[in-house]
Amino acid sequence: MTYQNYSLKQLQQIDAAHHLHPFTDHKDLRAAGSRMIVRADGPFVYDSEGNEILDGMAGLWCVNIGYGRNELAEAAYQQMKELPYYNSFFRCTTPTPTLLAKKIAELAPKGLSQVFFGSSGSEANDTALRLVRHFWALEGKPEKNRIISRKMAYHGSTVAGTSLGGMEGMHGQLGGAVPNIVHVMMPYAFELSLPGESDHDFGMRAARAVEDAILEAGPDKVAAFIGEPVMGAGGVKIPPASYWPEVQRICRKHDVLLMLDEVITGYGRTGHWFAAETFGVEPDTITTAKALTSGYQPLSALLVGDRIAGTLQEKGGEFYHGYTYSGHPVACAVALKNLEIMEKEGLVERVRDDTGPYFAEMLRERIGGHPLVGEVRSVGLMGAIEIVGDKRTRERFQPVGSAAVLVRDHAIGQGMMMRATGDTMILSPPLIWTRQTIDLAGERIARALDLAEADLRKAA
Ligand SMILES: *Cc1c(COP(=O)(O)O)cnc(C)c1O
Repeated sequence: MTYQNYSLKQLQQIDAAHHLHPFTDHKDLRAAGSRMIVRADGPFVYDSEGNEILDGMAGLWCVNIGYGRNELAEAAYQQMKELPYYNSFFRCTTPTPTLLAKKIAELAPKGLSQVFFGSSGSEANDTALRLVRHFWALEGKPEKNRIISRKMAYHGSTVAGTSLGGMEGMHGQLGGAVPNIVHVMMPYAFELSLPGESDHDFGMRAARAVEDAILEAGPDKVAAFIGEPVMGAGGVKIPPASYWPEVQRICRKHDVLLMLDEVITGYGRTGHWFAAETFGVEPDTITTAKALTSGYQPLSALLVGDRIAGTLQEKGGEFYHGYTYSGHPVACAVALKNLEIMEKEGLVERVRDDTGPYFAEMLRERIGGHPLVGEVRSVGLMGAIEIVGDKRTRERFQPVGSAAVLVRDHAIGQGMMMRATGDTMILSPPLIWTRQTIDLAGERIARALDLAEADLRKAA
């Protein structure tokens, strides 16, 4: 690496001249310059000015075993030397995707024993969308092809991912979505529950919105429902316990397939290997990516249930779909090593039994009482902090989102990386966080909230 030969200013100039960033306002970026992260170790990232920042987002929900794991670099190096690439088309494949598929099937909830590989969550959801429609066509019901999703869902950023997702801003720039996808209300009690409505009742009401959409189209026109077990990019929205079992009951009743997008929750984040187990659902497909390699390589895996796989194998006919890098041997070798490390270190059990509950307690005890905080919530190592102007009425600061951005900027100043979506602060740290790391995060977040509050009161 030779970036050290450049000053930060030079790097920022080159970046502004040549590099278009994802999900970025390029006018703002030009004015402010980009923040360069240059190295990382364990739970910390370091920027080009040498600041140490505790990474409360695990990169982008993915670096679950933390940074600086030599074993993963070694696995990639060995695989590149032996066989850097070969495809899985035309009845060929290579050993690592084969073994990884077996490993994933062993970890998966029962009934999901086949895997289709891609390089990103968006690609995997594209595969999932085509696959469920192909399934119903093979079953002789090609008109059973509507997909029900939810407002504010995030299912990726390709045309299919954006269409499946429920982000209005993204739809606005799409210029035509994939047809026959509809979006119903999300299970977000903090803003959508009625006065006096219990969490249980709210969850049942949000699930009924799925049934209403099925009945509106007619069950023989609806292929599947897709949802993130916990809505991630939409603001770590954790549904009431009543929601998923009721959604599942409704889907079964109308013979509608259930697709879970576990691109964030897959591989341990909620304290189980898959959030399907955390929430007690048995889906027909599970989309996974991010943590599969802890972000060390781009890789996604769509887990396919036995009903769909059985039909593919029984009816035959080519499924005209796949990617050059489906089952990339290097990415799969890294994933195998990543899963091996997670098992060896017992990270999933640790989140379930120790750090997950401790993280919840930290949020409740140290953050929940702050005057700017309307609610804290978490499941496993995935958490949210709602920023409000008035704790009692939950009224937000104006303009919406501005207070959370202020909290985020102070947090980064205090050495704490977290994200703001709308007025919700979100956290999704590496699963290697210990109680001490959680304490450190609590201190830094509390300081950021104090600083933001001082600014906001001054401005008011
Ligand atoms: C990140 C994400 C995706 C998209 O994954 P990419 O690898 O960015 O394409 C899809 N679904 C969910 C739930 C995600 O969080």
